[in-house]
Amino acid sequence: MDRKQVNTVTPIDVEAVRRDFPVLERKIHGVPLVYLDNAATSQKPAAVIEAMNRFYRQENSNVHRGIHALSEESTADYEAARKKLAKFIHAKSRREIVFTRNATESINLVAYSWGLDNLHPGDEVLITEMEHHANIVPWQQICRRTGATLRYVPITPQGYLDLSTLDNLLTEKTKLFAFTAMSNVFGTIPPVKMLVEKAHAVGALTLVDGAQAVSHMPVDVRALDCDFLAFSAHKMCGPTGIGALYGKAALLNKMSPFLTGGDMILSVWMDHATWNEIPHKFEAGTPAIAEAIGFGAAVDYLNSIGGMEAIHHYEQEMITAAMTALQDIEGLRMIGPPPADRGGLVSFVMDGLHPHDIAAVLDQDGIAVRAGYHCAQPLHDRLNIHATTRASFYFYNLPSEIDLLVQSLQRAQKLFGR
Ligand code: PMP
Repeated sequence: MDRKQVNTVTPIDVEAVRRDFPVLERKIHGVPLVYLDNAATSQKPAAVIEAMNRFYRQENSNVHRGIHALSEESTADYEAARKKLAKFIHAKSRREIVFTRNATESINLVAYSWGLDNLHPGDEVLITEMEHHANIVPWQQICRRTGATLRYVPITPQGYLDLSTLDNLLTEKTKLFAFTAMSNVFGTIPPVKMLVEKAHAVGALTLVDGAQAVSHMPVDVRALDCDFLAFSAHKMCGPTGIGALYGKAALLNKMSPFLTGGDMILSVWMDHATWNEIPHKFEAGTPAIAEAIGFGAAVDYLNSIGGMEAIHHYEQEMITAAMTALQDIEGLRMIGPPPADRGGLVSFVMDGLHPHDIAAVLDQDGIAVRAGYHCAQPLHDRLNIHATTRASFYFYNLPSEIDLLVQSLQRAQKLFGR
């Protein structure tokens, strides 16, 4: 994202951090687990598991409601988690952080709440061909309902956005440009700040899908000046069932609620209701309290091991080493840009081997990867590839795990007579 010089960061003590993750002690089919499916979801450190445990053991209570000690404690912890997230992405205020179920729900919130009120026939929503389905399907639906048109920034065969098309695609008709800050298939990190500037120059709002980026590199919403940012806890050491939407306060204030019911209202009469202030206006019903507290603990944990620059730096080293090693396997073709332009994941195809067969052989060797089209079917269609195998790294992966990956891929080739 904001690609700062990261040479001076304090290196992560990988052996030490591995001890924080109980699941990394597991054996799979009798051999130590090699977890390379981090782009799907990350593992959870004990600190996060314990924070959630502590909540249920010691203070479980509903938030924003009870006038009793436990409720006050859970409200304080729930709101403290929001504050930690705001600080983590450099939002101006905790009011700009809405808790959702995941990045998908955050994008849907903007699509339905902002989109239904602001899009009209003749308007355009611009997305890109490298989006996850989570940043495609909501816009298809909203464009269908409002009569707006959905347009795509094409990708190049090397896995970059074709930026030469932007001046034609971004026009005064464009009302919103929604794009990923890191492709979950190519790993590509687009020039987010420049894309935001170009969108703003034609008066369009921007939504950044940070599902992959926020978990792997520093993201500063004020430096980027994006209008919305969507991300999920489970990809950044936090629990499932909780995500966040960052939105500039001025925009969130103007938007209609997405879901309605308790907690998001100010007053309710028989025939109408008025809304609570942000962010509560967007949090109907009892929220995922333990999960929000776990999300806050995940942010604390990421900061405690060295922060996002150190994590990004380590993953750059890992992806460079991984791609160098994979390059030597005959008949293996990686898709996407060189390591310098991507995050810590790599998708590839192998001559004569189906990705599902590859993943099944790797699994026998205790190695977890993902095979398929990774919720990015249009991207695979564009490349004329049915499916790929994806290895995705996090700060707790070891260089020796790259060697194990290579050995297992070579075993798959032998098994299938390639
Ligand atoms: N966008 C991208 C780029 C992703 O990789 C993912 C998760 N694979 C999502 C959105 C959706 O995230 P979630 O399933 O947590 O809502």
